[in-house]
Amino acid sequence: MSFSDMPVDVGPVYEGERIRSKQMFVELGGPKIPKHFELVKVRKPSEIKDGEVILRGIDLGEMEEGSRHPIGILVEVAGKELEEDLEAVFERRIHEFCNFINGVMHLNQRYTNWMRVSKKAIEKGFNSFKQMGTILIRLFKAELPIIEQAQVTMITNADVIEEYYDMAIETYEKRDERARGLHDDDVDMFYGCVLCQSFAPTHVCTITPDRTSLCGSINWFDARAAAKVDPKGPIYAVPPGECINGVAGEYTGVNEITKKRSLGEVERVYLYSGMEWPHTSCGCFEAIDFYIPEVNGHGIIDRNADMKAINGLAFSTMANQTGGGKQMPGFNGISLQYIASPKFQIYDAIQEGLEHGIELTVWMNSELKERVKQFIPEDLQPKIATEKDVSNMNELREWLKEKEHPVVATWVEEEEEEEYEEEWAEEGAMVPLGTQTMTIPGAGGIGGFKIILKNCKVHADALIIKRIDKSAKRKKKK
Ligand code: SF4
Ligand code: ZN
Repeated sequence: MSFSDMPVDVGPVYEGERIRSKQMFVELGGPKIPKHFELVKVRKPSEIKDGEVILRGIDLGEMEEGSRHPIGILVEVAGKELEEDLEAVFERRIHEFCNFINGVMHLNQRYTNWMRVSKKAIEKGFNSFKQMGTILIRLFKAELPIIEQAQVTMITNADVIEEYYDMAIETYEKRDERARGLHDDDVDMFYGCVLCQSFAPTHVCTITPDRTSLCGSINWFDARAAAKVDPKGPIYAVPPGECINGVAGEYTGVNEITKKRSLGEVERVYLYSGMEWPHTSCGCFEAIDFYIPEVNGHGIIDRNADMKAINGLAFSTMANQTGGGKQMPGFNGISLQYIASPKFQIYDAIQEGLEHGIELTVWMNSELKERVKQFIPEDLQPKIATEKDVSNMNELREWLKEKEHPVVATWVEEEEEEEYEEEWAEEGAMVPLGTQTMTIPGAGGIGGFKIILKNCKVHADALIIKRIDKSAKRKKKK
């Protein structure tokens, strides 16, 4: 496959390229544009014209420098062996293939897609979406030989995007709904994905029915279809092996494959915990589930939220802490579908004496809460605060008490725990810890650093564990 007719280079080497606002010619999609999407559809050969790129709206070169536009990318593919289940997996590759283009940065997926084209690329003559569409078609056919024909429609006109938008949202919803009907105990095979290792080299996704990939775009059915057509590809089967801990979602097979694929970096994964041996996060998670030590609860902020979360941090700031392929207890990149799963962070809830992971959630940004409302038990809905209800930790604490949020019950238990810890600390202890990961938060319970102790035994004359803001919490207890 050659791109010698293109004015810019194309290849995996450009995948990590960042285009900052000063270097950017235009921005396409992203959080400031209301409707945009990218979608792959499997069609009959007679329904599409192979190699055709259709542009609806103004072209790249006609756009004003520094402007922002909606974008719709519809890739229609045909081939004897293609099935609808493969659409989502093909769709995820749009991200990768756009990033192959020198001078194009692509982030996210589905209706959160976000692109920038650099001034340098425009100067070199990369000034048409027809070029971008042609590159996509060539890459799709070369990298996924199962695709025999491909047609691309690029849309920059907001009215035309309206024509396609509902169809796109319906397609995503249909995929998600199907996946919600299936659970981890119903299947004997899980799947893994390492597509994001070009950005986060130690990141390994495990995709199970109850844990849709954190980018939100590959569910268990999609991964199964991908692994079937290309078992040696970036999406592969993961025999779960023995279940070591059903509550935590720890499986020997998942641990083994994660260790191998992360080059030894990640040895254990609790699929249903954000606090102990959590699943790694790359950078394209739909939302962040973050621990709030001040109330012993969790907050969730989604990628589109244009605000600071209750801990004072914006999504982008927390994303730096969360992503990069490390295990980061207390900061977990998740998909919105995972919130709907009965396994959602259930291990963490049970550790606190609660029954469901969602009972640990004390704060969400309001748009996210609205979007996932149907998955939150009715009695819990009014107890989860948003930015419209509270604006600081004191208000949150009061709100939780007043609404009798289930997490309040764990505050009392903490007091007993503290006493126990203090008693135990007085005696001194030899503690075999194995490998321990601890996050030491900075001011306000955020930032800070992580200490990993491998195969350690710790002797201490005293071990004193003190909670941040302990006195404030005590005063506020029931
Ligand atoms: Fe694959 Fe996970 Fe990246 Fe999604 S987030 S593309 S499932 S590695
Ligand atoms: Zn990713």
